[in-house]
Amino acid sequence: MKVLVCDSISPRAVERMRKACLEVDVQDKITPEELLQVIGNYDAMVVRSRTKVRKPVIDAAKKLKVVVRGGVGVDNIDVDYAQAKGVKIMNTPGASTHSVAELTIAYLFALARPIVQATASMREGQWEKAKFEGIEIQGKVLGIIGMGRIGLAVANRAAALGMIVLGYDSRTVGPAPFMQMVELDELIAKADFISLHIPLTESSHHLINAEMIGKMKDKVRIVDCARGGVIDEEALYEAIRAGKVAGAALDVFENEPLSDRKLFELPQVIGSPHIGASTHEATSRIGDEVADILIAVNQEGCS
Ligand code: NAD
Repeated sequence: MKVLVCDSISPRAVERMRKACLEVDVQDKITPEELLQVIGNYDAMVVRSRTKVRKPVIDAAKKLKVVVRGGVGVDNIDVDYAQAKGVKIMNTPGASTHSVAELTIAYLFALARPIVQATASMREGQWEKAKFEGIEIQGKVLGIIGMGRIGLAVANRAAALGMIVLGYDSRTVGPAPFMQMVELDELIAKADFISLHIPLTESSHHLINAEMIGKMKDKVRIVDCARGGVIDEEALYEAIRAGKVAGAALDVFENEPLSDRKLFELPQVIGSPHIGASTHEATSRIGDEVADILIAVNQEGCS
C-alpha cells in the first residue's frame, strides 16, 4: 500500500509503517498544486489540519482508499464526498485531548494575569508594575461550551484550581462532581471566563456573535482552542474595543494562516498559530495511532 504523508507526523510512526512493508512518502510541505499532481499514485493519505482534502483532490485520487486525519476535527476534509467515492475517513480523536486542555488552562491563566503583555514590555526595557495588575481565577465562574473529551478535561483541571465550572453541550452529558451542566443562556450570563470546545458546524458557526456577547458579563474573558469560525471575529474585535470583553485567547481562526492581523492590534488579545495539539506527547500518540490504523488497513487488504 502506498501512503502519502502530507502533514508532519512522528518519525517513529513512519518507521513503523515502513517496517510493516507500507511504502511511505513523507512530503509534509506539499502544496495544494503538487498534491493534485501526485495523489493519483497513492492508496492512503495522512493529513493533520494543514492539508485540505476537497473535491478536486478526491477526484484526482483515483486509487485512494483511506484518509487518516491525525487529530480530531475533519473539517479540512470533504467527508461526505470522499465517502460517496468509497474513501474511508479515519481520525485519532483522543490523542490530543491533554495537550489542548493544558493549552486552554495556560490561556485561562494568561488572560487572568497579563504575562504575555508584561513580557513584551520587559523586552522593551520597561518596568510597568502598576500596569499589569491581574485577577485570580480561583472562585471565578468558567463556562465551557462543548463537554466532550477536551471540555471535560478542561473542566476537571479548572475545578482543581478552584474555579466554579458550568458546562453546556447540545447532547446530554452525565453529571460529574467537578461541574454543573446548565443551559447556554445561564452559562453565558454567569461566566467570568468562557472556553469553547465544540466543532465548527452549521449550528456552531458564529455562535459567539454580537448578540451573544451582549448577553455576557461585562469584562468576560474568552478562550477558543477549538475551531475558528465559532467566534465572529469582527464582533469580538468590536466588543474588546468597547470594553465589554476584557480579553481573548485564540489558538484558531476563521482563516488560517491568519492574514487579517486586526485582532492582534489589540493588547487584550493573545494567541497562537493553531498549536493546540502541538506537543511532543500528542505528536507521538497521534503518530502511533495513525500507524496502527494504516497497518491494520493494509492487513485487511492483504487478507
Ligand atoms: P468531542 O467530539 O469529544 O466534543 C465536542 C462536544 O461538542 C460534543 O460533546 C458535542 O456534543 C458538542 N457540541 C457539538 N456542537 C455543539 C453545539 N453547537 N453546542 C454545544 N455543544 C456542541 O471533541 P473534542 O475532542 O473534545 O474536541 C473539541 C474541539 O477541539 C473540536 O472542534 C476539535 O476540532 C478541537 N481541537 C482543536 C485542537 C487545536 O489544535 N486547537 C486540537 C484538537 C481538537
